[in-house]
Amino acid sequence: MRLIVGLIMMIFSLFSYCGSREYNPVTGENQYIGLTARQEVALGLQAAPEMLKQYGGLHPDSRLQKKVDAVGLKIVNRSRAADPRWQFEFHLLKDAGTINAFALPGGQIFITSGLYNLFTTTDQLAAVLAHEIAHVSARHSSQRIAKSNLTNTMINAVMVGSGDATTTQIAALAGQLIHMSYSREDEVEADRLGVYFMTDAGFDPEGMVKLMMVLEESGRGARMPEFFSTHPNPDNRIEKIQQAIAEYTTIPSKSGAQP
Ligand SMILES: [Zn+2]
Repeated sequence: MRLIVGLIMMIFSLFSYCGSREYNPVTGENQYIGLTARQEVALGLQAAPEMLKQYGGLHPDSRLQKKVDAVGLKIVNRSRAADPRWQFEFHLLKDAGTINAFALPGGQIFITSGLYNLFTTTDQLAAVLAHEIAHVSARHSSQRIAKSNLTNTMINAVMVGSGDATTTQIAALAGQLIHMSYSREDEVEADRLGVYFMTDAGFDPEGMVKLMMVLEESGRGARMPEFFSTHPNPDNRIEKIQQAIAEYTTIPSKSGAQP
């Protein structure tokens, strides 16, 4: 039965692409999206355990995890990122040798201990989380998936027709999502929206600038952080971030809390 449903979904997705144009109030743009909000959430939840496995599981210190939760939830609840369609969850990964952070569609957000350990202020943590939240709110993965109908078909099949055989498919898909790098425009947008979100929630947006400085510093070491394989050079991002901070006072809040 599930297999048949999966098959129907596969066929359906082949025809549904053309109609997947939607207005996104967070970005203020019409966008072509490959998945519904519910599918994004389901996909993120499916892929999250694979992500944990790849990065050695969760950090054992629950106090640190609670801090990440508190900062992340404050941003999603008290900023224009607030949206009941997304299921935001924040995971501090045990991996201390890797410097990276990423978001799966629908709201599953991850940060490695390697990156966490670089922070000297809570605002820097807020900046990373706000940037990742912005990828979710702006639906960047869904837009990328929309560009590849084949992937969309595969996702629907994996999500609906999940029997034993699909565990490998889920793993493969999770792997793709993890290593999917966003476009430069997506990154710039995530920085800008991230500045708005964190400022809405009462954090100091200068934390985003300081985050870039810390990342840049880490890039001078012998080992290039993994972060640089999926994100543009921090040096080039600071100017645009400062523009966003300056803009913040003049733009109206579209939803959520007022600054
Ligand atoms: Zn990013």
